[in-house]
Amino acid sequence: MKSNFKTLATGVALSTILFACQKENKTQTTVNANAIPVEVINQIKAQGFSTDGVEKVDGGYRVENDIFLSTEDLTHPNMGVMLRVGDEEQYRTTNLIKSLPRTITISVSNLDAIWTTATDTAIARYNAMGLRITFQRVASGGAIGVTGADLGGGGVLGQSSGFPDANGNPPNKITINNRAGTFGTNPSVQWLGTILAHEIGHTIGFRHTDYKNRAYSCGGFRSNEGSAGVGAIYIPGTATGGDPNSWMLACTDGSNRPFNANDKTALNYLYK
Ligand SMILES: [Zn+2]
Repeated sequence: MKSNFKTLATGVALSTILFACQKENKTQTTVNANAIPVEVINQIKAQGFSTDGVEKVDGGYRVENDIFLSTEDLTHPNMGVMLRVGDEEQYRTTNLIKSLPRTITISVSNLDAIWTTATDTAIARYNAMGLRITFQRVASGGAIGVTGADLGGGGVLGQSSGFPDANGNPPNKITINNRAGTFGTNPSVQWLGTILAHEIGHTIGFRHTDYKNRAYSCGGFRSNEGSAGVGAIYIPGTATGGDPNSWMLACTDGSNRPFNANDKTALNYLYK
């Protein structure tokens, strides 16, 4: 997930971050676009991910700001289906979690204590849904490890190590950017909980709600999504029109985004 602080009017400090991020992003995009082989760009596009701002990172590539695709992920396409909620809301799944009902354990390490509370906040949101997937925080290890690492100063807040694998298991890592100042000073637990709920969403198969046009939540980013040509499942009776509050929007404006009606429809559809 990435920050988009344009609507976060909390003073000069964050305005400074905004301008710094934009400047840095522009530079990064230009530099990295030249560094990514065309073959890799085509593989990313074929899987329906945006090829805008692809970053080479250790062991693979980061796409759409917060999704890590390993070289293995790229050479073994994992397409899935598109899930349409209303006319605008779109979630796209790759593989889903299998062996339901199931409890997925999550541990937190190498992060400030507030992240433990934020993890509990995210877990509580999922568990309140009454899904066949539940989450439980454990002291160490577990199916998913939430851990801190320096993801740079470009506004990236966190990333998921991909989507469920072919066996229906979640990726085992969510990385939160622990570079000083990434989350400003005194961030709200609800916001951090939203970020974690977002990254957890990827681990159980959710794509970005606005994957067709990331400018919807990310502002300045160009719309440049790949076309995977896969089928769509439309969920009848769901609201039409844009939804500025989904927890799976690609960028955050710093606000709390608990599951809204469309989000709940999508979660229930896949895992109730
Ligand atoms: Zn994301």
